[in-house]
Amino acid sequence: MKDQFRAMHNPAHNLSIDPERLWGALMETAAIGATAKGGICRLTLTEEDRRVRDWFAARAREIGCVVTVDDMGNMFARRAGKRDYIPPIVMGSHLDTQPTGGKFDGVLGVLSALEALRTLHAAGYETFAPIEVANFTNEEGSRFAPAMIASAVFANVLGRDYALAQKDRAGITFGDALDAIGYRGTEKCGKHPLSAFFELHIEQGPILEREEKDIGIVTGVQGIRWYEATLIGQEAHTGTTPMTMRRNALVGAARMVEAIDAIARKHAPLAVGTVGLIENRPNSRNVIPADVFFTVDFRHPESATLDAMQAEAQAAFDSVLAELNLTGDWKLILEYPPVVFDMDCVAAVRRAAQVCGYTSRDIISGAGHDAAHISRVAPSAMVFVPCKDGISHNEAEFSSKEQCAAGAQVLMNAVLEFDRHLASRYG
Ligand SMILES: [Zn+2]
Repeated sequence: MKDQFRAMHNPAHNLSIDPERLWGALMETAAIGATAKGGICRLTLTEEDRRVRDWFAARAREIGCVVTVDDMGNMFARRAGKRDYIPPIVMGSHLDTQPTGGKFDGVLGVLSALEALRTLHAAGYETFAPIEVANFTNEEGSRFAPAMIASAVFANVLGRDYALAQKDRAGITFGDALDAIGYRGTEKCGKHPLSAFFELHIEQGPILEREEKDIGIVTGVQGIRWYEATLIGQEAHTGTTPMTMRRNALVGAARMVEAIDAIARKHAPLAVGTVGLIENRPNSRNVIPADVFFTVDFRHPESATLDAMQAEAQAAFDSVLAELNLTGDWKLILEYPPVVFDMDCVAAVRRAAQVCGYTSRDIISGAGHDAAHISRVAPSAMVFVPCKDGISHNEAEFSSKEQCAAGAQVLMNAVLEFDRHLASRYG
């Protein structure tokens, strides 16, 4: 009783997550789909995914949580609050991995959220709003495209029927795979109002480690634009066609590779631009290339800069056509607008990092996350922790016990901070 009194009147400051228990959960679940090189292969909606989901549901029920599953397989473990009619504050991420994934990408976010609930449970701490842990289906997009499909349906970015019909390489649909592991729930995906969403994730980049910061306060997710281009020239004999009479589409593509790189460098330091895929036809050593397809990937946190990069790339493409006497086509095929996270949620993360005494910096996420979709339907923010050499989607991915614990502590404190914010708003 005394402990409970202290916890309630001295909120958050003396509630500490248990680094050993968190690390134990990370290592225990890492055995489900463990690879020889120390990573995890736990593709979404496989037997391994079922086992880790069952593990997570069982641990949540042990501390009195109610677990619901929606019809995209998203899981929500709910711990009641004083005002149970208020939409929950939700923490979470994903338990699926890449085929040669690491132990931390996604998993850290779900298990830290579970650790936060275990801590609240052990302290008998009563929150104002209910608190939930979410596990989103198929974040990785390795088995079913696109990535983050279930949070996209949740946020009404993609249609449910489209998502359920997506097929893996064996021809199995997402819907059938859900049924096969018994995780097609009854709740309609998206019919689950949230007061806020917080996602802890490894940075998957080198910035925090390089600057020796404990915590990244994620203020947004950069926008993505993908383009596909085709350049058409004329096939001709490489030995007999004078240089002045050539219409070489691959030379055009080469100039575009340079141009895309230069455009991204011009908008440094936040812009990135890549030509990652080129198909050259006929791809014969003694035929002048006449039909080249290539892709462009531009990313930046601001739409205005993406607009400028797009205009510059279009201008470069037009001059390549003119200079090399080519025809061609350039089109935008995918656009994820930049996400700016909610001010109150970001402030809660910032305050949590300060209260816990961690070093931190603001950071923009370079990768997509479920939180980017969820931010369309609920105030959201993210917490990053460093990972060794910035490496992820790799069996060597690593964050230390201390780094994971710092992230979990900030995640819990941010949620409690937001809970107090709700309590003062609702009274
Ligand atoms: Zn992830």
